[in-house]
Amino acid sequence: MKKLYRCRVCGYVLEKNEPPGTCPACGVKGKVFEEYESPVSRKRRKILDLHVHQIMVNLPVAFVASMTLISFLRIIGIVREQSVFMGMLRASVFFLPFSVILAASAGIFDGKLRFKRIATPHLKKKLMLAGSFFIISVSIFVIQYFLDLDPSTYNIAALVHSVVLLGIAGILGLIGGKLIESKVRG
Ligand SMILES: [Zn+2]
Repeated sequence: MKKLYRCRVCGYVLEKNEPPGTCPACGVKGKVFEEYESPVSRKRRKILDLHVHQIMVNLPVAFVASMTLISFLRIIGIVREQSVFMGMLRASVFFLPFSVILAASAGIFDGKLRFKRIATPHLKKKLMLAGSFFIISVSIFVIQYFLDLDPSTYNIAALVHSVVLLGIAGILGLIGGKLIESKVRG
């Protein structure tokens, strides 16, 4: 059966039948690995290792990236009205809020498994940023379906919204990147 081993030099933890001869993280050779008892239960580790949240967050980012690109190309006049690109832009705006709900739910689920409490300063910041991301994605959704804007104004609105969203997504990614390796007692 596979066991967990931790590198005595750098602390890298891996799951194998036998400890490797060289640490893949720090490169130190020899018997640097010692058996390691994870404070996280095997079941929790299995779920966390699926990286559901990290995969799901790509969905809204993909929609926002296509919104940015298409609205920009339309503003500078490269793609026209009634084009397939307009359909893509409208579809991205339509799917965006739903993809945010999915990604955020996966994030809350992930946070509850990973941390003792999710009301810490960093996690609160993530929740607040995710909340503003959702509100802004709903705002462009409302503009698309409930305001009768002319196409060029709509394009500008879509571009402004998507650029702000890209910024928020970037900050969320930076905070998330620091948290991904943390797994506490479970
Ligand atoms: Zn190492």
